[in-house]
Amino acid sequence: MAPLENHRETMISTIQLNNTSPKFDTKIEKKYENQIVWKNVILLSILHGLVVYGFYLLFAGYGKWKVVLFNAVYWPFISIGITAGAHRLWAHRTYKANLPLRIYLMLAHTAAAQNHIYDWVRDHRVHHKYTDTDADPHNATRGFFFSHMGWLLYKKHKDVIEKGKTIDMSDILADPVLRFQIKYYYPLVFVMYFIPVVIPWYFFDSPLWHSFLTSTGRYVFTLHGTWCINSVAHKFGTKPYDKSIRAVDNSVMGPLGLGEGWHNYHHVFPWDYKTGELSGCKSNFTAAFIEFMAKFDWATDLKKASDEMIRKRVYRTGDGTWSKMDILKKCDFSNSEFIDNGESYWGWGDKDMKQEEIQAINKYNHIRDL
Ligand SMILES: [Zn+2]
Ligand SMILES: [Zn+2]
Repeated sequence: MAPLENHRETMISTIQLNNTSPKFDTKIEKKYENQIVWKNVILLSILHGLVVYGFYLLFAGYGKWKVVLFNAVYWPFISIGITAGAHRLWAHRTYKANLPLRIYLMLAHTAAAQNHIYDWVRDHRVHHKYTDTDADPHNATRGFFFSHMGWLLYKKHKDVIEKGKTIDMSDILADPVLRFQIKYYYPLVFVMYFIPVVIPWYFFDSPLWHSFLTSTGRYVFTLHGTWCINSVAHKFGTKPYDKSIRAVDNSVMGPLGLGEGWHNYHHVFPWDYKTGELSGCKSNFTAAFIEFMAKFDWATDLKKASDEMIRKRVYRTGDGTWSKMDILKKCDFSNSEFIDNGESYWGWGDKDMKQEEIQAINKYNHIRDL
């Protein structure tokens, strides 16, 4: 019981809400040996060059807008493999998915071509566990460009590699769907990348080269969307839940990132399938997708934070921008059961999660097995 009592004391002693955020140094103080990975520089340069050329063809009247429209409609079906799949299902274990849903999410993730899920998950778990330190693959303290895409152009910091080895990945290797993706990754990418190239070529009579350029435009757009969560959502926005971290809630990246831009919330409650307080198709398409899948029992054991947990955290560490601030005045937190020890977790199953916290979350979400 001692940790709970200590926690209450801490909470009561910090009862005053403080609206000021800590000031972060904008200068990058540390010097890093940035060893360039030329293979990635060349690949990303070619990709962006193709996008520029594709735009030229389109605006010069050679391309077809209905192919662009097809890719715009196709985009969320692919991106869901990143947001609902690699991120919320596999990296954070915020819910469970049955075999058909896991296969779909794996194929969608493969079509998005962001490396296989094992690497994606390991990098993301390290990001959450060691956020904004040298062990964070896209450490935002090294500047906006580094956190956006620069981290892919430089060799990994040794801390990223060392800490990456300490992350438990046994659950990923235990999933046969993910083992299949690792084994056949490049043939799968080839097939999944060319499906949206062939469809407009066949149905809209678009030259194959133009279909390829448009599809590549969608691919690069999706890449920047993912990267913006690491850069924009670690710099521009509010910190309603924890003002001591860099991650922010960004009201543009929230909806545009299919619900991934409520990043201050997400770093505080990484095991929550919504990754934000807001739900619904507009502001959190991915949460709506998971809830839809749950109606057919394809998605189960959805975990989300209770109002009480959210309010307590807002009360204790928020920056004062929480939209329902008035509610806090009526709350009595002194008799609260829930333990929120403020540790950094990579998600559900992190060895540093306290048993009391796991039990409280399970109880609230009516989950029986751990
Ligand atoms: Zn995450
Ligand atoms: Zn982050």
